[in-house]
Amino acid sequence: MAKISINLKTGEAEKDLIIGIDLGTTNSLAAYMMDGQAVTIQNDAGSNNLIPSVIYFSKDGDIIVGDKAKEQLLLDPTNTIYSIKRLMGKAFNDVKDFEKYYSYKVIDEDSDKLVKININGKFYSPVELSAEILKELKSLVEKKLNKTVSKAVITVPAYFNDTQRQATRDAGKLAGLEVLRIVNEPTAASLSYGLGQKNDQTIAVYDLGGGTFDISILQIQDGIFEVLSTHGNTFLGGDDFDHKIQNFWIEKHNLKDHLSSKTFGQKIRLLAEKAKIELGKSERFSTTINLEDSNLDLEISKEQFESLIKPLVDKTIESCKQAMSDAKLKFAEIDHVVMVGGSTRVPLVKQMVSSYFEKPVFDNIDPDQVVAMGAAIQADILAGNNKEFLLLDVTPLSLGIETVGGLMDIIVPRNSKIPSSVARNYTTSIDGQKNLKVSVFQGERDLVEHNRKLASFILKDIPPMSAGIPKIEIQFILDADGILKVKAKENRSGLEQEIEIRSQYGLSEEEMALMLLDSIKHAEEDMAIKVLLEAKNEANNVVQSTEKFIKQNEDILNEQETAEILKLKEFLAQTVKNGSKDQINKAMEELNTFTTPIAHKALDINIAKAIKGKKI
Ligand code: AMP
Repeated sequence: MAKISINLKTGEAEKDLIIGIDLGTTNSLAAYMMDGQAVTIQNDAGSNNLIPSVIYFSKDGDIIVGDKAKEQLLLDPTNTIYSIKRLMGKAFNDVKDFEKYYSYKVIDEDSDKLVKININGKFYSPVELSAEILKELKSLVEKKLNKTVSKAVITVPAYFNDTQRQATRDAGKLAGLEVLRIVNEPTAASLSYGLGQKNDQTIAVYDLGGGTFDISILQIQDGIFEVLSTHGNTFLGGDDFDHKIQNFWIEKHNLKDHLSSKTFGQKIRLLAEKAKIELGKSERFSTTINLEDSNLDLEISKEQFESLIKPLVDKTIESCKQAMSDAKLKFAEIDHVVMVGGSTRVPLVKQMVSSYFEKPVFDNIDPDQVVAMGAAIQADILAGNNKEFLLLDVTPLSLGIETVGGLMDIIVPRNSKIPSSVARNYTTSIDGQKNLKVSVFQGERDLVEHNRKLASFILKDIPPMSAGIPKIEIQFILDADGILKVKAKENRSGLEQEIEIRSQYGLSEEEMALMLLDSIKHAEEDMAIKVLLEAKNEANNVVQSTEKFIKQNEDILNEQETAEILKLKEFLAQTVKNGSKDQINKAMEELNTFTTPIAHKALDINIAKAIKGKKI
């Protein structure tokens, strides 16, 4: 139920404050609206708007978030958690290749379950850890504004799948926040620029943060934001630039043996980040690192740095190409390119993006604050203060259910706009069928076995009816956050069941890209299997209805006819087992050719019987 508070001084109804949160891999920010402007909140010391997404578990059991926690990265690395966003909604199998980057313990007991982190012998999920960051942001706003905050809009990378979005929402709940909307980061960024308020525009939002990369092509028309396409990589960002520099030094000075010390690992990582930032302004960077008993000079030039990271920036440009081709756009149709994320400060990144899109990039808003500010603007829209905008998004992979023979029946195609609701009718394949299993899959291949299973449930106690009679409506409801609800309803009896999909673990962006590639690569063989399965399904139905026909018309059929039908039916049943699609279709045709005139005759006799003696 909606609640309204009255300000006793003014007598006016006070609206709830909804804050916008950018929950980042490296840093997080909170923002709110003041006098029509988005304002980001500063840390306790008032020195920075970026709150490091780092959590420190002290020996005394205190949990510290932000700058103070970041200081512990060097001192107590196993109890200091960073880059937790990379683990949101992931199983150990999804992240094992990256385990070496973590100084804390990622649990690998059950590789298919969502990951947990072992801190001081206690287990924490990424959701619980992210909640600590959100609690810190909430408390900073509360201290600053001297009022409680209970509602928020949180941003996620456009490529976050259902599980990752759910995990983010859960983290909000755990932090005591009602999460009113999960918004894609690039969408929030474009809101910050106020784009589309005056003219209709097409915008590319290039977002390279600490750990993730997204490119989104947005179209804004009449104040409506529509995401035409998205692409990206959940494991590519400024952290990887740091790793390149770090590895360059490790190889050059043969420092591999020192890596067993977690403190050394952190030290060299922080120096690498410093070098990267410095090389944005200087041609060279040099520093000293102290080893156990000596000091070592480390150096790197801008040219060396750029040649190290060029392959990574190239990867982002590949994603841009894919997004442009998905959106079916030419360069000339892109009005602006918006830069988001701390790593877009790297000059080579700006240069390569600008040269790819053949236009100067838009970078006049702080790329670190632009997303949180957009989230605050979105919060303002939800609070009903800004009616200019409406947001639409798209779903990155197709969603559907398994039908007879293991075929994928797509209900919501990839790149469909969300929120959306699509319903389709199905029926039973066996007489008197009581239960119907609904298995939900995500992916582009024709056979469900090649796609990712999200969930399944059983619609139970369907009243007994002949095959094909029940009308079962399956409805997919994708909400504005990209979270899926599936409803199944038998329309003749009103029987209904519903589930919200909370898949066991999510798909990484690489897996999504692989699934798309696979669907193209295997299109021909998938199609051959699909038509064979369809022929088999149809033939099985014909066999069943032929048996029914013989039973119902015993007194009409003569002996010869019955024998011939049984022979043709048996031949069809055999062909279904080991024949090709063409052989099955031929056997079906032979049976149909023989039975069709008999069926007509039977129908005439049955109608005559039915109307005999009845007054019309
Ligand atoms: P974000 O995830 O958007 O907060 O971006 C954080 C990333 O931006 C980290 O990898 C930082 O090292 C990087 N970053 C921040 N400032 C700079 C800079 N001036 N030059 C290069 N990278 C930067």
